[in-house]
Amino acid sequence: MAIYIPEEKLSEIRNTANITDIISERVVLKKAGKDYVGLCPFHSEKTPSFTVSSVKQIFHCFGCGAGGDVFSFLMKHEGIGFSEAVQSLARRYGIDLPERNMSASQKAAVSLRQQMFDLNRQVMAFFTDQLSGRSSGQKAMAYLEKRGFRQEIITQFGLGFAPDGWDNLVRFYKKLNVSHSLAENTGLIVPRKDSGFYDRFRNRVMFPIFDMTNQIIGFGGRVLDDSKPKYLNSPETPIYHKSRSLYGAHTAKNKSRETGNVYIVEGYFDLLALYQHGVTNTVATLGTSLTVEHVNALRRGFAQKAFLVFDSDEAGLKAARRSISLFMNASMDAAVIVLPKGYDPDSFIFEFGREAFEKVSEKAIGMVEFLIESSIKTNGLSMEGKVRVISDLQQPLLEINDNVARSIYIKYLAERLSVNENAIIEKIKSGEKRFNQTTRQNNRLKDNDGQPSLSESEPLIESEMIKVEKQIVSMMLKSPEILPEIKERRVLDYFSDKRLIEIAKIVLEHPIYGDEETPGLMNHLESADLKNMFASLVIEDECRDLNNCEQLLSQFINGIERRQNSLLSQIKSAQESNDEELLFELLRKKQEQSVNR
Ligand SMILES: [Zn+2]
Repeated sequence: MAIYIPEEKLSEIRNTANITDIISERVVLKKAGKDYVGLCPFHSEKTPSFTVSSVKQIFHCFGCGAGGDVFSFLMKHEGIGFSEAVQSLARRYGIDLPERNMSASQKAAVSLRQQMFDLNRQVMAFFTDQLSGRSSGQKAMAYLEKRGFRQEIITQFGLGFAPDGWDNLVRFYKKLNVSHSLAENTGLIVPRKDSGFYDRFRNRVMFPIFDMTNQIIGFGGRVLDDSKPKYLNSPETPIYHKSRSLYGAHTAKNKSRETGNVYIVEGYFDLLALYQHGVTNTVATLGTSLTVEHVNALRRGFAQKAFLVFDSDEAGLKAARRSISLFMNASMDAAVIVLPKGYDPDSFIFEFGREAFEKVSEKAIGMVEFLIESSIKTNGLSMEGKVRVISDLQQPLLEINDNVARSIYIKYLAERLSVNENAIIEKIKSGEKRFNQTTRQNNRLKDNDGQPSLSESEPLIESEMIKVEKQIVSMMLKSPEILPEIKERRVLDYFSDKRLIEIAKIVLEHPIYGDEETPGLMNHLESADLKNMFASLVIEDECRDLNNCEQLLSQFINGIERRQNSLLSQIKSAQESNDEELLFELLRKKQEQSVNR
């Protein structure tokens, strides 16, 4: 990519920007000799191997090998391009950049994210104006005051009001001359079926959502009455991802780092209430349960210990069960605070004050202990009760990867129930086999948010394969002259997708020599699913000559053979190292492959 920023400007920025400052805004760094170390934001680790050198102005991770200067850090961390990293640092340090060398389209591409941040900032101002001005905002202000929030908190968190009506923000955008695509990207207005847009947020108190570096990434809105949905958030946008974002990240950062503790609550008002009472090291999840990304961000950027604050035993139990392995696997201490029945963090602290909140915090117990105690409370300590407690704990204990931690909890459980430790270990083991086969398999394909995981390479290879398989079938449809070769090289034997195999077989039997024959072929396909796929293959519009076709086939077959060879060598080394669990996995995989052949 061409660089449009003069060299002397780059060195000016490089000389002014301090890499330690920039990184420590995003990662907790500790001094170690003349360098700083922290947990690497680019790979998952439990002991810090991510090193920042102030002297050399570089970073390097001894774990994953990531490294570079302040520009490369920002590019990698924020997922932005070079020019954008340069611009963002220039802005941050007040260095003027000449922009005349950039074309309009380059500027637009480079700065979409920044434009979204800027626009969100203007939208926040629009909402805060609405809140403090005119008649419609008065009832929202009265609502906030009735809930006990002081003006300084309302101002500090940029609370606002989205007035009733369908086009208040739409008209505001028009006034600002915001382009349609930018407006749509922010997700605050929604395209109408016919034409035009309408406001997503209407008649709601608005909460701007800041990231750790104080940029506004999205908004949340709450109704003033009991109508539904009570809360509404920005949709996913290029700058807002709810599985990663935490409300209050910008205000919680400093105190969390100072104390080593961070509170996790569920709602905007819970957070504001705690903050107003001086418990400022608090973040809130945004209408989603905690994810791996949340926990990793907290561990790397905030604190070593998390306190999950819940308004009831049941809510706490559910969340503890769900997130126990997240914390364990991130090596982050986590404890559960359960408030008295009928209270949430917001109502509790307004009624009883900060000291009372701190008292309940002191009674917080670790997640596993919490699960054990809750289960004992429910099931009792009769013989049947104990059996139920142990089976309640089977799954959570299985999910703990750390063997030492696991054995400590088993010991605790054994003592608490006066049961022989070995009996519990046996019970856990009996679940292990099943767990390995099902859960790990699922985990490999999905992270806990149900999204395909990007950190795993295998699923990518698989979907990549299917993509190539699709290309091949689409090619078979359009270049029938390749069909003899497909048969000869037994290409379909290598396919993994059953639907594609079926379609390809039919194409082999009924080659198409003109577009008019296509609908006829479709009749040979039975399910709607196959028809859909067939249509998408026909529509795919890629021109290939015979040469290209052959190249594609060779690449495909070579790739498969490489994969098989690597699987064989993995099996061999697993045999050599006596890793039975791994061996079992690999053999299962091998079997899967041969089933498809
Ligand atoms: Zn790393």
